[in-house]
Amino acid sequence: MLSRIWEDFLLIAREEAGSRVVETWFKAVALQRWDAITNVVYLQAPNQFVKDWVKNNYIPLLQVNLGRLLHVEMPKIFFVDAIEEVKESSTTPNQPSASATFLPAKVAEPMRTGIMRVPSSKNQSHINSNYVFSNFVVGPSNSLAYAAAHAVTEKPGKLYNPLFIYGNSGLGKTHLLHAIGNQIKAQNKRASVLYQTADRFVNEFISAIRFDKMHKFQEKYKDIDVLLIDDVQFISNKEQTQEAFFHIFNTLYDAHKQLVFSSDTFPQNIQGVAERLRSRLAWGLVTDIYMPGIETKVAILKKKAELSNGMVSDEVAHFIASRVVSNIRELEGSLVRVMAFASLTHQSVTIDLARKVLLRNSSSPEEQAPRTVDFERILQHLQKQYGYSLNEMQSKSRNKDLAFVRQVAMFLMKKLTDKSLRDIGMYLGGRDHSTVMHAISKIEQHSSVNNEFVQKIKCIEDEIVG
Ligand code: ADP
Ligand code: MG
Repeated sequence: MLSRIWEDFLLIAREEAGSRVVETWFKAVALQRWDAITNVVYLQAPNQFVKDWVKNNYIPLLQVNLGRLLHVEMPKIFFVDAIEEVKESSTTPNQPSASATFLPAKVAEPMRTGIMRVPSSKNQSHINSNYVFSNFVVGPSNSLAYAAAHAVTEKPGKLYNPLFIYGNSGLGKTHLLHAIGNQIKAQNKRASVLYQTADRFVNEFISAIRFDKMHKFQEKYKDIDVLLIDDVQFISNKEQTQEAFFHIFNTLYDAHKQLVFSSDTFPQNIQGVAERLRSRLAWGLVTDIYMPGIETKVAILKKKAELSNGMVSDEVAHFIASRVVSNIRELEGSLVRVMAFASLTHQSVTIDLARKVLLRNSSSPEEQAPRTVDFERILQHLQKQYGYSLNEMQSKSRNKDLAFVRQVAMFLMKKLTDKSLRDIGMYLGGRDHSTVMHAISKIEQHSSVNNEFVQKIKCIEDEIVG
């Protein structure tokens, strides 16, 4: 169960901090033990370097999200030494050690500007083997996207090119992109498939420019058979990157290579992208994916339970499914919490247990439809209390008082919505996820020493959710 929790944490961290952080740091770390009595999570890192880095940068992220998954408040995080002492320099691929998949020489080192150096990933496809077609549950909300994705694997580059899948967060876009990659790899081992988030594409491009590696960058993309770009909306307003992207698109398209994109909105609606690129994105098949109805939600829950060697009854699955309205990631999260609680307390998964676990996390004392709190609502209430307008909150101004209220906004947005740190940062004036994380720990610190402040925030919170 713990390994399942760590896997879920990795999924969340991927959303919150980006795949690069997960691949570089969190994949090197193992969740070793959780002590429910002292509320301490013990993590194991392969070496001092990783340990220090994670400690200095990701403790709040670990606490908040492991806390949620384990269903406790802010667990303490301790590092234990690796059982097997691994010398950094002697890590070779044929050593089956804890760090066998982690090569220190390739660590993405942050630079002063905050841009990460991307490790050369010539032979890496970044495909996650857990996301395959066979564990994707098909229903009316996603059948078209599924069929198109499947068709693409039968005739890559021929049928729908590009394939463009759009829909809200947490509805299975990333899953389908990886499934395409896995399927094509399974059919043809030599096919060169690359999955890349648009975000990582942008960073890779920036670092290619900085380190004068444009040639290498272009070479890498030139040789790809199937290019899967996730969350393509992240290239908004990045003109130079778009230029490079445009060329890569043309080269691959002209060579009949398959292109697949995902986005949170349809191509014409992606802001800050030149028209010629937007229209190219819509050249092939554009298909959407939306929140499934109750039957599909139940089927997904049963599938997920089965994949983690567990079982949920129809009754429990219905109960969980009926509580989650907007996002499959959240649906999975609820299931994991219920199953983790059952397993840790040695109880079976009954509807009473599910109710207990899921209601404990909810703001309302009784079972109700989940609250719908959005960013606007939070800012309206903060404006009432502190007087700052939306424009001011999104501005670059660092006026001390305003900056503090902005931090409160970030804190509440994280607490009351299921949006990622990145979404919050983007909304509040295009700030980085680490700024949001910093804000949250600032507010938590402030809360720990100022009770009056805690009460005030609690009041605002009650008004927002009330
Ligand atoms: P998106 O990229 O649209 O934000 P993801 O692909 O990351 O969403 O999906 C979020 C989670 O929900 C993943 O763990 C994924 O496996 C799961 N999921 C989404 N749709 C389905 C489905 N139809 N069947 C099974 N799992 C699904
Ligand atoms: Mg995604």
